[in-house]
Amino acid sequence: MIGKFILLLSLLLISTTGHVCYKHEGADWETGACASGSRQSPINIITANVREAEDVELFISGTDITTGSILYHDHELKVTYSGATAKYTSEDEDSEWALAQFHYHAPAEHRIDGKTHDLEMHSVFVSKTNPGQLLVVGVIYELEQGYEDDEFIASLALENLVSNPTTGHIENVPMENFYNKFSNTKMYNYKGSLTTPPCTESVEWFVVKEIQKINPSQLGRFTSKWAGLSTFAEGKGSNRVAMDLNRRKVFVTGGEEFMGSFSFSILFIVFLVISVMQIGLAGVFTLKLKSPKNATSQKFAKIPEKDKIEGTERLNADYNYPGVSKPPHKYFQRSISKEI
Ligand SMILES: [Zn+2]
Repeated sequence: MIGKFILLLSLLLISTTGHVCYKHEGADWETGACASGSRQSPINIITANVREAEDVELFISGTDITTGSILYHDHELKVTYSGATAKYTSEDEDSEWALAQFHYHAPAEHRIDGKTHDLEMHSVFVSKTNPGQLLVVGVIYELEQGYEDDEFIASLALENLVSNPTTGHIENVPMENFYNKFSNTKMYNYKGSLTTPPCTESVEWFVVKEIQKINPSQLGRFTSKWAGLSTFAEGKGSNRVAMDLNRRKVFVTGGEEFMGSFSFSILFIVFLVISVMQIGLAGVFTLKLKSPKNATSQKFAKIPEKDKIEGTERLNADYNYPGVSKPPHKYFQRSISKEI
């Protein structure tokens, strides 16, 4: 009960606070769990240490915003909207979460292998059965010259948010398309906190693995308010420093990556074709060696057992794959899993 009260108070603070100081990127925050907590956010995600979480998936669905408003106030650039749902499934959990709001940070908060990207969007979901729990989905963006306008960001009409504070009118925001794009894709998952005071530690984090692209014009709508504005936190932006991982583990969840399974199928077919060709060539080569020049009647002589064994061993050596008892696809599965 106390936990719920603190969390509701936290949400209230987040939605009404006028000023969060980013001059030290949050390293000096001492409110709540900011200084004393042990599972704080954001973190630096070391991809080589990420573990695969089996059977964990996050499906997100949204309904379009036909008309609504967006708030720009100091570090906040936020849309309060409840028209999206997240379904989190695992072996021992099947929960539903309702979107409360989404907002942005520039530069991005979660670092990937030490790199700080340009922008990060946070969609904040509240548990439908336990309002004391939050689930936040992070989407990271990286600048790309000449990239086409993102229809979702364009629909937020950020060009109208010129004064601070101000509230802008938005309409026809394609929430459905936006969340469909990320539903059940690969996401980093770990247990963390709010990234602004009071840094409450009750957040299930999901960070979309694939970095999104954004062109300079659209990125400028965000950076002109924070990272590119010298009067805001001395131009340091609105992201918090990466916090210690401590004893936590980071997983990568879900995501039937279409291209991954497609590539695997192609690799397997190529392997089969090469195997058949090599066995065929070995047979022809053996026939040529063994067949007397004029003995056409012996053209179809059988390959001696000894040569067959050598051919199989050579085939296995080519693929660095010891033993003939294991099916070849296991080898490719191991190769692919190492890339995650
Ligand atoms: Zn945030």
